[in-house]
Amino acid sequence: MTQVLAVVNQKGGVGKTTTTVNLAAALAGLGERVLLIDLDPQGNATMGSGIDKRTLKHSVYDVLVGIAELTAARTSSAKGGYHVLPANRELAGAEIELVSLEQREQRLRLAIDTVAQEYDWVLLDCPPSLSLLTINGLVAAQAVLIPMQCEYYALEGLSDLVSTLKRVRANLNPKLEIGGLVRTMFDPRNTLALQVSAQLEQHFADKVFNTLIPRNIRLAEAPSFGVPAVIWDPTSRGAQAYVALAKELLARFSTQAK
Ligand code: ADP
Ligand code: MG
Repeated sequence: MTQVLAVVNQKGGVGKTTTTVNLAAALAGLGERVLLIDLDPQGNATMGSGIDKRTLKHSVYDVLVGIAELTAARTSSAKGGYHVLPANRELAGAEIELVSLEQREQRLRLAIDTVAQEYDWVLLDCPPSLSLLTINGLVAAQAVLIPMQCEYYALEGLSDLVSTLKRVRANLNPKLEIGGLVRTMFDPRNTLALQVSAQLEQHFADKVFNTLIPRNIRLAEAPSFGVPAVIWDPTSRGAQAYVALAKELLARFSTQAK
């Protein structure tokens, strides 16, 4: 069965895009068929996959507003080994245009339905907000993956996200689950990070992935080469952590499917 995962956190800079791009490449490296959908008008996941957002023929915007089919708008990450439905600044306009369209919260889900059987995983890189674009992601997904930095305000932000998830579950997508929390940019020498991490485990128990993503320069520099770090430097600690996370994800979701 195709797993559609929304990578969400309304905070910016917590590692959503880094997680989406590297999980896509790591899952592809493990033989999985992956589609990454960039839902952020910043287009960072698009560029990080080696696709120039300035020269797109079609983008996720065209698909959401009904100008193009997903099959016509998708492209592939040359080095990453996965497909990409790319985004650029045009997507910012979709926020406003979607409001007046029919089934405005369902448009991404309906588009994904047309290609779902071609993929094992569809990963959605959500923007840093709980906007209509993110809602489209949450309606299309079976589960959310929440990257977070273990810092002081992290837990507070999480309660807003958890109440949004409850609302979406009540009104739009009853099947939506928390797939897991990913601790990103983790520094074990930081006492506060260790404390917040322990609190997360207390509150969310086995929803917290065992794999810790360390702060690693290779993860930060790979996007400037348009190659996921998992491919750019497979031996780096960052790349190895994302491969471990992909394996953990596979193990978790295959036991769920049984
Ligand atoms: P978001 O998509 O949540 O805004 P990003 O994935 O773009 O977050 O990450 C924010 C910044 O931090 C980027 O410059 C990215 O390269 C960097 N970054 C993300 N994860 C790591 C990490 N584990 N180690 C070092 N830098 C990271
Ligand atoms: Mg991002």
